[in-house]
Amino acid sequence: MFDWLIVGAGFAGSVLAERLASQRGEKVLVVDRRNHVGGNAYDRYNDAGLLIHQYGPHIFHTNSRPIVDYLSKFTAWRPYEHRVLGAVDGMLVPIPINLDTVNRLYGLSLTSEELTAWFAARAEKIDKIETSEDVVVSVVGRELYEKFFQGYTRKQWGLDPSQLDKSITARVPIRTDRDDRYFTDTYQCMPAEGYTRMFETMLDHPKISVLLGSDFRDVAASISHKRVIYTGPIDEYFDFRFGRLPYRSLRFDHETLNTEWAQQTGTINFPQSEDYTRISEYKHMTGQQHPLTAITREYPAAEGDPYYPILHPESAAIFKRYETLAMATPDVWFVGRLATFRYYNMDQVTGQALATFRRIDEKLPLSGRGRSAVDVADLAAA
Ligand code: FAD
Ligand code: UDP
Repeated sequence: MFDWLIVGAGFAGSVLAERLASQRGEKVLVVDRRNHVGGNAYDRYNDAGLLIHQYGPHIFHTNSRPIVDYLSKFTAWRPYEHRVLGAVDGMLVPIPINLDTVNRLYGLSLTSEELTAWFAARAEKIDKIETSEDVVVSVVGRELYEKFFQGYTRKQWGLDPSQLDKSITARVPIRTDRDDRYFTDTYQCMPAEGYTRMFETMLDHPKISVLLGSDFRDVAASISHKRVIYTGPIDEYFDFRFGRLPYRSLRFDHETLNTEWAQQTGTINFPQSEDYTRISEYKHMTGQQHPLTAITREYPAAEGDPYYPILHPESAAIFKRYETLAMATPDVWFVGRLATFRYYNMDQVTGQALATFRRIDEKLPLSGRGRSAVDVADLAAA
């Protein structure tokens, strides 16, 4: 008899498995239909011995010290600040748009103050910023929007930015200084031995069992359990009874190149050309030294594994119905990017899982056996 059946061995499922086992002494079974742990953050060594990310580049960044401290129990880190160049108008220029982007693209030598005025002269006045078009056009005007955002977004989402929630393009800031880092979070780093190793350490606990290559639907009836944590797509859990939630998929084209380095930065974006959105080269991120190099091209796709929730008013309305149903479903907790239909980064999913654990721990009395001496010592140390 398991106290918990956890569906999904990604950040949401693994963090909760670790907390429930180590802090409450409960017996947990984690099932995943993939044949590996880590969810979309899974990394592996390819045939050439290069560490690659199976589901596209994953860079850890957060402003939350408690989240870094928590994950640091399971991994050491290597500092890494991600940089992205965009192939625009035949040049490679920094993304997010910054002072150098504009000066190089237009052959100017503006100062930061002058760039602020330059943007203001082009920005369109929009009374209520609602869409992913509004949020960019209202800051930099239409021309830069078209060069950097419109084509990329249409390719990535199969929709025009005017059809998408503002939060999507708002992920990428616009700068007037020369900062060319993709993220400005306080903590930016990569797990020193990779994500998969970190997950293996997290799940390495006598109270945790892991069953891979198994779909929850196929095994749930035959595994005795008291409660469920579900981290898969929420519409699938409820048999799509309110219709399908829209997700965007990707095809990852992994390649090993017979050269030591392929590109100047970890990622190059293609907002104007190509069928793929970006090419990433892992050695920048992992720090691995190797005579060859591995890259991945990301081709957006309508069909395939659900990677991105597509956020717009219609999907928000469908999700609300599922969310209401989820809240009324006893003994099942919905956690993670797909189960809560949120465009969450790894740190946000970790934070959501830790918060869910705190809620569970407050709500549910410990079942019978109580906390072990080790657990109590752990709690005291925390
Ligand atoms: P997932 O990682 O999706 O894990 C859910 C798991 O549940 C999956 O392994 C799935 O197989 C399993 N599952 C689902 N249904 C069932 C079922 N019925 N039975 C059994 N198993 C099931 N975040 C960052 O912070 N930085 C980045 O640079 C970054 N880059 C990204 C790049 C790409 C291309 C993508 C797609 C995402 C990126 N992310 C990034 C986001 C990051 O991947 C997610 O925040 C995180 O992986 C979500 O974890 P999760 O546990 O919610 O979901
Ligand atoms: N985006 C864009 N051009 C770019 C980079 C991003 O239009 O060069 C938009 C696009 O809609 C993208 C969103 O901003 O989906 C978020 O970008 P991010 O790099 O955060 O996407 P992710 O890494 O999550 O795929």
